[in-house]
Amino acid sequence: MMNPVEIIRKKRDGGILSKDEMEYLISGYVRGEIPEYQISSFLMATYFRGMNAEETVEFTNLMLNSGQVINLSSINGKKVDKHSTGGVGDKISLPLAPIVASCGVPVPMISGRGLGHTGGTLDKLESIPGFRTDLSVDEYTSAIKKTGVVMIGQTESIAPADKKMYALRDVTGTIECIPLIAGSIMSKKLAEGIDSLVLDIKTGRGAFMQTKEKAEELATALVTIGWKFNKPTIGFITNMDEPLGYAIGNWNEVVESIECLRGKAIPDVVDLTLTLGGAMVMLGGKASTIQEGYDICKESLSSGKAYDKFIEMVREQGGDTTYIENVELYPRSTYSIEVKSGHNGFITAIDSLELGFTSIVLGAGRMKVEDTIDPKAGITIRKKIGDRVSINDVLAVFTTDQETALSSASERILNSFSISSSPPSEKTLIYSIVDNGGIHDFHI
Ligand code: URA
Repeated sequence: MMNPVEIIRKKRDGGILSKDEMEYLISGYVRGEIPEYQISSFLMATYFRGMNAEETVEFTNLMLNSGQVINLSSINGKKVDKHSTGGVGDKISLPLAPIVASCGVPVPMISGRGLGHTGGTLDKLESIPGFRTDLSVDEYTSAIKKTGVVMIGQTESIAPADKKMYALRDVTGTIECIPLIAGSIMSKKLAEGIDSLVLDIKTGRGAFMQTKEKAEELATALVTIGWKFNKPTIGFITNMDEPLGYAIGNWNEVVESIECLRGKAIPDVVDLTLTLGGAMVMLGGKASTIQEGYDICKESLSSGKAYDKFIEMVREQGGDTTYIENVELYPRSTYSIEVKSGHNGFITAIDSLELGFTSIVLGAGRMKVEDTIDPKAGITIRKKIGDRVSINDVLAVFTTDQETALSSASERILNSFSISSSPPSEKTLIYSIVDNGGIHDFHI
């Protein structure tokens, strides 16, 4: 018989918890035998003291096995997914999943909703009329069998310990803790039935990990867990100092994804998608290097195969493809407001964190859990870092039904752009790659 207080004190004093101690706490919590005040205390002790690699793996294992681990072994081929730690304008999953699936690598994807200032893939997909993200495990399995790609939300049966603990962390100031984040993310990903995983760990102003050091620490923890579970895992540390692409907001980002799938040149979106796709295609056994995988993905994109796969996925999950084929039929916001530059010069910074929060006020995200999202609301930036601007050039356009948000949103968006007379230094999209051999520079 263990005493939870002794386990909490051990962690508080910097001790390493055994497998049995960890199991006693986590499993007891899920069964309702250990009260929330003791788990809150354990979480705060972990926030300050951390976990070593073995503890983090054990923590992940307990959360993974608290629910159903989906078995996709009846489906041919290596199943590969991607997870992003979240950013502003990060719609990459939408073009990426069909691109990779169209290259013959099945993509089972369980995604999340918007968190903090970042958007969520589920909210974006649900802006497509009729699109269902709440498939049962059987529907999920048959969709991936049929089309090679499926995108859903976390079900009740997947990692319930994480679901319960995440909600507790949210209200106890214990979200920003690398082992807890790593265990939370990986328990859900490992439950999907994947063989391999690609991670996009964002760093910069609009990311949860604002420094490269923190992003590398998180990437190392995530990649280590993946390999410990025999799932080859590769992470990329990528730039979130400005929004990805131009569109922020749910339907707005779906439209930009459709444009990308139809071959529009949106440099950062296309490049990041093809790089992550290249790694997925390699891990899926269809290419021997990331570069080769990149080229295969590029070919699938330019041939239209990837776009066709997207349509197939939307149809399979109940979405109305009329709006995909004719985006102009989608309802429009009451207000569409231009934000114009007051200076001549070069864009040197775009505060993506501020743009993320502003998009929430416009209706694109939630301020309270029970809020409903306005899929039409959002911001489209017209300038990126490095672009030259003149007085009265449009920096961004925002759309909303919220009359009361108009003037503060205009001001916040305007203040998000830094303009200087000299151009900024060259920007980097992908800083490094993390695999089981450590952190390396990355160039494609
Ligand atoms: N996303 C998750 O799924 N879990 C975390 O702890 C943080 C981000």
